[in-house]
Amino acid sequence: MSNRRDAFYDERDRRTRQYGGRDKALERPVRIIVGDDVATTPAGQQATLALINLAARVHRHIDVHIPATRLLVPTLVPANDLHAAAVATALAINPVLELTTSATLAPIDGSLAIGLGRDVPKDLDLYLDWAGGRGHINSAPLAGSPDPVSVFGAATAAVLGAAGLFRLVHAQPIRATRFNPIELTADDRAGTDDRSGPIDVGTVLVIGAGAVASALAYWARQLGTDGTGWDIVDADIVELHNINRCMTMTAAHAGWPDGTPIETPAHKADATAWALGGTPHHQWYDQWQPQHDAQRHDVVLTLANARGVRALAAQRGEPLLLHATTSANWTAELHRHLPDRDDCPACRLPDTSKPKMACATGPTIPTEPDSPDAALPFLSAAAGLMLAATLSDIPGAAALHGRINHWQLDLTLDAPPLQPRQHPPRDGCTHQLPAPLRQAVHTAQACRWDHLDDVNQRADAHGEL
Ligand SMILES: [Zn+2]
Repeated sequence: MSNRRDAFYDERDRRTRQYGGRDKALERPVRIIVGDDVATTPAGQQATLALINLAARVHRHIDVHIPATRLLVPTLVPANDLHAAAVATALAINPVLELTTSATLAPIDGSLAIGLGRDVPKDLDLYLDWAGGRGHINSAPLAGSPDPVSVFGAATAAVLGAAGLFRLVHAQPIRATRFNPIELTADDRAGTDDRSGPIDVGTVLVIGAGAVASALAYWARQLGTDGTGWDIVDADIVELHNINRCMTMTAAHAGWPDGTPIETPAHKADATAWALGGTPHHQWYDQWQPQHDAQRHDVVLTLANARGVRALAAQRGEPLLLHATTSANWTAELHRHLPDRDDCPACRLPDTSKPKMACATGPTIPTEPDSPDAALPFLSAAAGLMLAATLSDIPGAAALHGRINHWQLDLTLDAPPLQPRQHPPRDGCTHQLPAPLRQAVHTAQACRWDHLDDVNQRADAHGEL
């Protein structure tokens, strides 16, 4: 038994250890306590299931107190009630997880506890709250009544909660933090604007099916999105160390269904697409694209970083490119690229660049900062969530308006969480199509958001379209 457990963690937690995760800290019991007041609400159930999903990807002993209420939201794994869904989700992600339900809510030595809702003990380490699109983590008990129908706030709270637990087991302090991914606001500026699903932006091309794409698929599924018209392109195969951060993926996708490597692993494209019913393509984008260049998509998301995909995406002539990333500095980042207003994705994030380690904002320094995919579950989850929030609100989305085109969300929970940035267009960019060529692309095959490209608005003004 212990050999199986050790072998599983040895392989699964490679990326977590690269990011500074320590085995002893990951063994520390964490308790997830869900109050009756929120267990009966869609918002409380979304927060519960997302939090257990993220926690099971790093923590090795989880003690749950989750009421067996009737399910009101989609689940990753079939189940009859909220408690069963949480347990089944956790064990599908981590078949060797030590999953317990202790007899009382009295504190357990050495454990850390997080509470959701008001019907929870007053001596816990962390509390989560949500109101509209705003999620909130705090170390003090919460007042007021919980919002039963929050969508993005409940999701955000789960992400903050997972970050908070990881920080605390590593003995790192956290501060009370609020974030609203719809408004792209934080702390005292964070309001309660929210959006409900499903995501309806037309056809979507997702380039890359790694952790951020997987998180986007997870949130899109929870938002009730129908994946018809979503094409997900990635030739890569799931490995067990991907399971530390890919929200739609379970140990079975990596070929370790019972905690041992007994099956053939799935393609990442399948392990991401299944969650929302999208179409997987087992090819690298540079191989797939020449066979599909007659077909435009309404939205193109560049969620990969190798094989020059950012430059290839910039050359498509799209009216808008969105993507999200994680960094080696505990940030999840949302990027906007409107042609002629912003720089292009290849100029902003060249393939050859290594993540910058400007200052040690995190508690731990990744030992391999140039490893492109070392990340923790809540970082990928936050990146996918910011993307889902933007997609749920096109064309009015906060990310599409104003000069800011890059948002860095710091999940150390030890500093102001949101850093907005602006990158102007680069002189001499050789990636992005010039305006007349973009217009030709749009004229040849019109798509839903072409009007977001200023070139078409200028043409409209002159009666040319
Ligand atoms: Zn460029």
